[in-house]
Amino acid sequence: MTPFTWNEENIAIVKARYLSGHTATVIMHEIGAPSRNSVIGKIDRLGLRRDRSMPVFRAQRRSSRHFAISAYDMVQKLERRARRAMRKEMPPEPPVPPREMPIAPECPPMGERCQLMDLTSKTCRWPIGQVGHEDFFFCGAVPEEDSPYCPYHNVVAHK
Ligand SMILES: [Zn+2]
Repeated sequence: MTPFTWNEENIAIVKARYLSGHTATVIMHEIGAPSRNSVIGKIDRLGLRRDRSMPVFRAQRRSSRHFAISAYDMVQKLERRARRAMRKEMPPEPPVPPREMPIAPECPPMGERCQLMDLTSKTCRWPIGQVGHEDFFFCGAVPEEDSPYCPYHNVVAHK
């Protein structure tokens, strides 16, 4: 590898790169200058000045990281957009059905309510309401086999 010299070509690159907004570090890497300071010194000696409003291109390492970040942002944005679009197209979710009770269809069966004297082996003996109160009654539904209670009250009784 030939040692670095400030030949015409390198000086031309420094001028062009510096004036187009590249930093000394970028230029240093491009021409293989020994240090950033030597590039800055050269720029100084060449009397190069550039407009402060000019965009500055940072060193490669930094710009590639920046690129990685904006690519990530872009993916996120696209995903968000896709999710939004999907939400718009999809019908509203159906309400979650209430958890099924592992029991009889009626909860509790009301049709057969009966009073104490109506109780037989064919009536659920589950008391409903307050004893002695006029609203008090027994369930009266058909009991499950070998049980004084209907399927519903069997479940309630064993809770
Ligand atoms: Zn019952």
